[in-house]
Amino acid sequence: MILLEYEAKELLKRHGLPVPSGEILRGPQTDISLDFPVVLKVQIPKGGRGKAGGIKLVHDKAGASSVAADLLQNEILGCKVSTLLAEEALQYDRELYLAVAVGRTNNSLSLLAHRQGGVDIEQAASEAGPVRTFPLGESVSPEIIQQLHAYYLGTEAEAGGTDGVGQGGVGADAATLQKLVEGLVETCVQEDALLVEINPLMVLKNGGLACADAKVELDDAAAFRHQEWNFETKVTSSQFVELDPDGMVASMANGAGLAMATVDAITAAGARAANFYDVGGGTNVEGMVKAFQKIAAMPQVSAIVVNIFGGITRCDEVAEAIVESKKICQDLPVLFIRLTGTNETEGRKLLEGAGIAMYPTLADCVREAVKVANR
Ligand code: GDP
Ligand code: MN
Repeated sequence: MILLEYEAKELLKRHGLPVPSGEILRGPQTDISLDFPVVLKVQIPKGGRGKAGGIKLVHDKAGASSVAADLLQNEILGCKVSTLLAEEALQYDRELYLAVAVGRTNNSLSLLAHRQGGVDIEQAASEAGPVRTFPLGESVSPEIIQQLHAYYLGTEAEAGGTDGVGQGGVGADAATLQKLVEGLVETCVQEDALLVEINPLMVLKNGGLACADAKVELDDAAAFRHQEWNFETKVTSSQFVELDPDGMVASMANGAGLAMATVDAITAAGARAANFYDVGGGTNVEGMVKAFQKIAAMPQVSAIVVNIFGGITRCDEVAEAIVESKKICQDLPVLFIRLTGTNETEGRKLLEGAGIAMYPTLADCVREAVKVANR
């Protein structure tokens, strides 16, 4: 699950990291108590908002309310905007890139850094040298910080001295950088994140550092440890792909991996799989109805395998969405549902109440669906 920026920044603040003062706006109200100028930032689960017109500088309350109204009216990067983050605009000299990520290959955390952070990081990484990786051991050693500091400054020995790219201050001594990295590592470990990315990490004119943007990806597999996880962004994007116009068994699952596995299971059981459908996280009835309508329009489909593993998205939420969607799509082929995980019991009750059958395992589900399809 990738958090919205303001949610990510709340976590960062909790771990003592320097986050600009900000306020959440859920409408075009002008009661901003921050000092102007202010940046207004759309809160959507996508990067690249700056380039897409979702980050705006405003100079007074009147400007803020008209820009806010505008941002809330339009879609940005295909997302409806319901929340804005207003932040005091930063006076900065430089933008750096810094992230802490779980390294799957080295079983440890790594620091990822680039001297030229900001909206053109991809371009910078291809033209001014790749993102640098610094593997972290048990703790953030002073040596790593020295290497990172020298890299940002462009004074590292192995690069043969200054290459020009890194010139400019880092706005902080190694001790400040150390504290910042420790805060990011602490956030990553204690919050069960896979990625904590700061882009840009701004070098301020007053000499400090500020986390101007934040992307935090939490590990869905750790959801059971975090009853407090109750974020606005539970929704991951959904995807529907028609695979075989003559397919007999359709499917729906939450998560791309589970959706692929479901398609494989149908194929292995001897039926032609009609589609791939990752319903995403959350409970988007509108999206589910659209997908069900596409399935209903596929002439050969006579069964739908639904494979739900409740993690952060709870089984009862998905069950409710299925019941609602089914009410709207009257002529839907019969559903074969496997539902397990968080709030399974509540989910089962909802489906039973709506007369929808469930099967204990995916194998049972697929076998019965294929039987019906081959009849
Ligand atoms: P993103 O485009 O979704 O990654 O959004 P960011 O929060 O990273 O903002 C994009 C860019 O806006 C930054 O890289 C800055 O160059 C620019 N920007 C200008 N002034 C400010 C400011 O005061 N705060 C922030 N966060 N960004 C600013
Ligand atoms: Mn950014």
